[in-house]
Amino acid sequence: MKVRMRAIVVVLAVAISVWISSEAFAKPQGGGGSASGAATVTGKVYTIQKIADGVYYTTSTSPTATGGNHTIIVGDHDVFLVDAGATAAAGRALLEDIKLVTDKPVRWVVNTHFHWDHTNGNSIFGPEVQIIGHEYVRHFIADLDVIHLEPFKTALANMPIQVDALKKQIGDEKDAAKRAPLETQLAAKQADWEEFKALKPTPPTMSYSSKMTLFQGSREIRLLFLGRGHTQGDTFVYLPKEKIVCTGDMMETQLAYMGDAMFDEWITTLDAVKELDFGTALPGHGVPFHEKSLITAYQSYLRDLLAKVAELRKQGLSAEETAQKVDMTSHKGDFPQIQGPGAEVRGIRRMYQWMDERAKK
Ligand SMILES: [Zn+2]
Repeated sequence: MKVRMRAIVVVLAVAISVWISSEAFAKPQGGGGSASGAATVTGKVYTIQKIADGVYYTTSTSPTATGGNHTIIVGDHDVFLVDAGATAAAGRALLEDIKLVTDKPVRWVVNTHFHWDHTNGNSIFGPEVQIIGHEYVRHFIADLDVIHLEPFKTALANMPIQVDALKKQIGDEKDAAKRAPLETQLAAKQADWEEFKALKPTPPTMSYSSKMTLFQGSREIRLLFLGRGHTQGDTFVYLPKEKIVCTGDMMETQLAYMGDAMFDEWITTLDAVKELDFGTALPGHGVPFHEKSLITAYQSYLRDLLAKVAELRKQGLSAEETAQKVDMTSHKGDFPQIQGPGAEVRGIRRMYQWMDERAKK
């Protein structure tokens, strides 16, 4: 009797969980970037959220570097992956965790742009996988010395500094309970450093200049270059039937790195994105979002930053001083990571350089 009862309870539990997950799968995503109501599975390194049939979005809280968030698009025969991760190890961990949602092989990878946190995992893919990028991404990784150029240069240089800082913190920490998470962080950082040192820059095997359309069985995947902005070659991945757009770092739900930006073109390119018919945007960093008004808010952040930096520069401040002083706190309602005055210094240095480039034209 007891055994039978347990069997009934198990059957009921399974039935309820199936019902809950199918209910969640059928529901559109909650607004405001919330993942509530979404079906998710958690792997060793990545959390994988179902966005639509065969379309998944990854996030990670792993202490090791994972890089940008991925979109996984499962077709009739194979998988199309958006971005390759921050290290070869991250790429491999992703391929492991993807098995939680499909047993089909990854055959296509797109690099949304050349930055290391989206491309360093390229090296793990064999010749059976096509890596696609805008021709600028191919040029940057194939022709230039990416290891000694920003933003990888600083990321690599920061590794020993961060390792030493963690070691010092661990040495100073008397409480064993507080030391344990620091030791986890240290191990992760050391593993990342080894990965960084072993980096084999791997360019896309396929490039395009303005538009490329792939038919993954019955699914249409459009790769769109809509103009320069965050870098000089960013790709949007657009699924017209599903009304989903992957925005890379051109549009995040947080402030993007600006060290390679073409600022005025960035604002114009975002206008072109808003013209796409989409209901869900999956960014390179942050969380899914649904409202085009967030893009407008980011455009207004960029315009405001340009005006404020130009003003401080006119007063004779260096890029470093401006990065300390520029006050963007009026935008913190849209971008809560803004905690006080200041902006990331490499973005402001780039803005000064960009202003010089424009003045010469
Ligand atoms: Zn980026």
